[in-house]
Order: sequence, then C-alpha cells, then structure tokens
Amino acid sequence: NRQTHAMTNRMRIGYGWDSHAFKPGVPLKIGGIAFDHPSGLAGHSDGDVLLHAITDALLGAVAAGDIGSFFPPGDPRWKNADSAVFLQTALEEVRHAGYRISNVDTTLVLAAPKIGPVAEKLRERVAELLSIDPGSIGIKAKTPEGLDQDGVAVAHAVVLLEKQDDGDLLEQIAVATESEAAQQEQTQTQMDDFVRKLVGRRTSTPVRKPTFNTDDIT
Ligand code: MG
Repeated sequence: NRQTHAMTNRMRIGYGWDSHAFKPGVPLKIGGIAFDHPSGLAGHSDGDVLLHAITDALLGAVAAGDIGSFFPPGDPRWKNADSAVFLQTALEEVRHAGYRISNVDTTLVLAAPKIGPVAEKLRERVAELLSIDPGSIGIKAKTPEGLDQDGVAVAHAVVLLEKQDDGDLLEQIAVATESEAAQQEQTQTQMDDFVRKLVGRRTSTPVRKPTFNTDDIT
C-alpha cells in the first residue's frame, strides 16, 4: 500500500468522511473514548466513526488509499478492533511520506449523546493518539437537523500536513532512541528485581545440612 511517488509539496491536505448506524446494546466509542449510552455504533471494528474519518483524511493526504484498502471489513483480524490501530497505521504512512500533522479539524453529526460536555476530553484523547498538541485538534458537533438521520452518526475530518525538515527527522530519531534506552533500562531494572526476589527466596529457605559425615568418605 506504500505510495511510490516522491511527494515534494510543502503542505498537503486530506479529507475523510464516515458514517455508522446506532445499534442498541453495543458499546459506544467515539474519538477513542467510551460513552455511557444505551446504543453504540455498529461496525466490523469498534465503529469509532471519528477515528475512521481522521484515518481516511490522513491516508488521503499522502494519497495512500483508504481505510478499507488497509483493513478490509471482511477480515476477521479487524473484528471489534480498536480503531486506534487504524489511526496508527495512517500516521505511519504520513511519516513514511515525510510529513507531520499541522492540524486536524473535525465535525460530528449525531442526535445523541451530547458532545459539547466531552469535547475537551475528546480533543485531548485524539491529540494523544496523534502525538500532537490538543491545540491542533478541532472537535465540533451538530445535530442532524432536517436530515431525518437520528439513527446514524457521521464524522467529517480535514487534516493539513507539513513537510518534515531534517531537524524534525533528527528530533524524531532522538526521541525514538531515548525511549528505546529508557525501555532497556526498565527491562534491566525488572530483571534485577526478579533476580533479587529469586535470590531472596533461596536464602530465606533453610539451608539443608548434608545427611552424611563428609569425614567418613575419605
Ligand atoms: Mg467506519
């Protein structure tokens, strides 16, 4: 699925759209957040309409296809999948093409639940998933006035990408190296703890005396 054409644009724009029907008794997830609501969004994956729209916007921005070409709906691997996985794949495509996200704007269209009270939480969660500042995420919501589609949730998303310069790439490598070093250090500490625990257990069990007198052997 990797694009093969060199991309030289300083900026690129992407647009994504998705819809899912509400279904009673299904857990509701929007923007990576679980909602306490009597119905959820039916889908092969977790039905996260907002993350699907953002995923498509990111893939579209680097002309890398769409969510369905990466994650076919019939594939059992993606049954009830966490849509954050789709988003991460799209992010990898963006990085691979040499871009980083400048900002994202979204609009949700749904009759319920109310998005206003959780908009800030959504913004922070989506920003976290995209590894960007919450100030670079727009979350807007509307009710489907006059559309006769109260049983459906719709999401629109646009993204703007910027070409990464060498400084950005160096910083990315530095961050990756740093986190790898931290991980190794953590593993070492865990191993040390484990060994200490094992040794502790050994020394706390009574040492058995030999049942024979070694002097007799000679
Ligand atoms: Mg979808």
